[in-house]
Amino acid sequence: MPIIDAPAIPANLPQQSAIVVDIRDADSAELAARKHDAHVRWWLELGDQLLLVGDRGQVRKAAPDRDVLGEIVDFRSENLRLHALGCVRETATPGRLIARSGRWELRELSEAELSTAPDSLHDGHSDEWREIEPNSTITWRYRPEGAVAAADPTIQTLVDSVDTGRWFADLSTLAGWDRSSYGSQLAFSRAWIETRFNALGLSVSAPTFTMPGSGGGQISVNNVIGRWTGTEYPDQWIIVGGHYDSRNASLSSTINAPGAEDNASGCAGVIELARVLVAFEPERSILFMCYAGEEQGLYGSKAHVQSLQASGDLAKVQAVVTMDMIGYSADSHLDAVFESYSTWNAYLNQFATAAATYVPELHVTLSTNPFGSDHMPYLQAGKRTLLAIESDYDSYPFYHDSADTPIHVGPNAQAMGGAILKTSIAVVADLAGIHDRIFANGFEPSAP
Ligand SMILES: [Zn+2]
Repeated sequence: MPIIDAPAIPANLPQQSAIVVDIRDADSAELAARKHDAHVRWWLELGDQLLLVGDRGQVRKAAPDRDVLGEIVDFRSENLRLHALGCVRETATPGRLIARSGRWELRELSEAELSTAPDSLHDGHSDEWREIEPNSTITWRYRPEGAVAAADPTIQTLVDSVDTGRWFADLSTLAGWDRSSYGSQLAFSRAWIETRFNALGLSVSAPTFTMPGSGGGQISVNNVIGRWTGTEYPDQWIIVGGHYDSRNASLSSTINAPGAEDNASGCAGVIELARVLVAFEPERSILFMCYAGEEQGLYGSKAHVQSLQASGDLAKVQAVVTMDMIGYSADSHLDAVFESYSTWNAYLNQFATAAATYVPELHVTLSTNPFGSDHMPYLQAGKRTLLAIESDYDSYPFYHDSADTPIHVGPNAQAMGGAILKTSIAVVADLAGIHDRIFANGFEPSAP
């Protein structure tokens, strides 16, 4: 919920003011009407919040029957910036919070803050700070139009096969190791992931790559790849990935990084999706991947993309799903963000519609302003890629902390993680072309 002060009205009235309106339960038609209201000069949409800018004293007429969450009486668009949401401990962010949704917050900066700010904030082109464009949607709540699509019986079987207790047990096992890319225990977790993949019958490799060490120089660490070869189109690949390394507050530290939520949750999710999917025979190949070196700069996923480019295999990649922090929900209200580039809007919608059909309790926010996880190297290489992340990640109290342990992921962990895993498996099953294994082997299912 944004907190906006009500400043005193200055003597010389500025021309524009802005309001933030609660659009949680607005449908698409109403949303369009608000944006194009005669009293609105321009707008910004952030999930459940709509910023409307108009003439002083007039803009409230654009939404007379909506809850106004806040108002900026003296509105200057040049002072607005988008800020990428980090962790809860980042308390010194400049500016005043105006609205927030889907990994972004809109902040209003004073002239003093802008003039003394680092370049990244000033020019708005860094990963952390971005300038705004009027009439743009930063993130949006998915609103099903018309009837929700009926469930496909085979995909429903896969969705029902996701075992959240098993997933949480794997999360807990992984959190038993300090998985800093600089530490000595990362190799134990790597070996354990390889064992899991081998037990599922995947073809397993653990390619080495180098990244900067904590004390200068280079270190060698490994991604883990488990390949399940497709029956019809083995050279068409779907990638399902998440990083298995972790960190604590000190980036260079080598200890006390259990990383239960960040990101044993996503890595265990990759293993759980593999476990369910191998009971079926996909037409296309699936690469199940756990990356190292994510926390220091996406080194594992960058190394994988580079190896795909070098081998000429990049063209085989049809789609990528990455998961980073999928198990925490601050309350029993389940919210997830799916993000990609706007090029892949249809892909984002595929996840939103899958959630509507198979996980209707999940509230979905979509974003075309991605940053900061293993989806980025694939997106930058032109691949259809998406990140799935819980919406409440920025309020997780144990982010990058030695207390990021399984118990702290909290009482909603299995519901939250399960919602993202079920949505993801529904899409991956569809992308990979899943058939029931018995049916694919030529045996007709017996009559009831
Ligand atoms: Zn992470």
